[in-house]
Amino acid sequence: MESETMIAIVKERPAPGLTLKRVPVPRELGPHDVLVKVKRASICGTDVHIYNWDAWSQERIRPPQIDGHEFTGEVVSIGGDVSTVKVGDSVVSETHIPCQKCLQCRTGKMHICKNMQILGVHRDGVFAEYVRVPEVVLWKVDPSIPLEYASIMEPFGNAIHTALVTDLTGKNVLITGAGPIGAMAVAVAKVSGAAQVIVSEIKEFRKELARKMGADVIIDPTKEDLTKKVKAMTEDNGADVLLEMSGNTTAFKQGLDSLTNGAVVSLLGVFPGELSFDINDLFTFKGLTMYGITGRKMFETWQVATQLLKNKRIDLSPVVTHILPAEKFEEGFDVMIRGISGKVILEF
Ligand code: NAD
Ligand code: ZN
Repeated sequence: MESETMIAIVKERPAPGLTLKRVPVPRELGPHDVLVKVKRASICGTDVHIYNWDAWSQERIRPPQIDGHEFTGEVVSIGGDVSTVKVGDSVVSETHIPCQKCLQCRTGKMHICKNMQILGVHRDGVFAEYVRVPEVVLWKVDPSIPLEYASIMEPFGNAIHTALVTDLTGKNVLITGAGPIGAMAVAVAKVSGAAQVIVSEIKEFRKELARKMGADVIIDPTKEDLTKKVKAMTEDNGADVLLEMSGNTTAFKQGLDSLTNGAVVSLLGVFPGELSFDINDLFTFKGLTMYGITGRKMFETWQVATQLLKNKRIDLSPVVTHILPAEKFEEGFDVMIRGISGKVILEF
């Protein structure tokens, strides 16, 4: 047992890149820990930050550490006090590990826990054959859901959480940024009865992704005036809902400008720096309502994700553009960095 090892993708040194190597299997479990055999894991934009070793990761990651946080797998052993999962269960996992003690955790808002620990950021991640996680983050998943889709339920949950802050039935929904999450949000808005789903996107590959996920109109704001086009599609009113999923300042500003008075903004995108624009005219005087979105609601969002996938209400196949053996992870990071992918899934 002592010398048992597994394959893992590790940030070995405080420098760009990741290394595939053998590391010990984390067999030792605390009373509430669970050991999960990883079946599929998927690469997130956060992993690309860690791969590139940018300022954000330098502040947070303490190498050596296993990377990755989006995955699905099977429970192989459980700590003495674990009661919510058992050996053999198929599971997916929340990435955000709540403390279960703070004010937010005690008042039904675990997803904004004050002491949040993040898998693959503050502790060893899931790009490995096995991962040890506390039982609080695990969510049993129907084995009928294909592994590829189960492994992206975490970012799918971001799309669901962002889109469902307000009733979308009969609403004109504008989505800025059709990366994997924006593209999945298109399908969530469609299934929720949106009148029109309008996407703003600048990359060809991602425009195509949005189209495949059911967007009614895709606008390239570098080629057309987004606000004018949205108004033309909405009896000169503007969109009712903005789902900001680009993390781009210009896209966000154009998005706000394309909204009707009294619209709802749901903000997922993470901006590289401070924003500067006229909040009086773009927000306050328009009487907008804005929601900041972090992660997924535990576990309301996971239940919605499970039901949508289990009952085949949403087809995620266009979003899964690459499935690679773990050994070929470099290829996966390459297409992610070049923006010529949807979700890239690694097989362990
Ligand atoms: P992504 O970077 O793959 O997608 C962003 C998309 O926006 C890209 O396709 C890009 O071409 C497009 N874009 C860039 N500039 C644009 C512009 N000016 N106009 C229109 N489109 C533009 O990211 P993703 O993985 O899909 O995630 C979406 C966003 O959500 C990112 O900002 C990410 O950091 C953030 N995120 C936030 C949370 C959270 O909990 N708040 C969780 C996950 C991801
Ligand atoms: Zn907490």
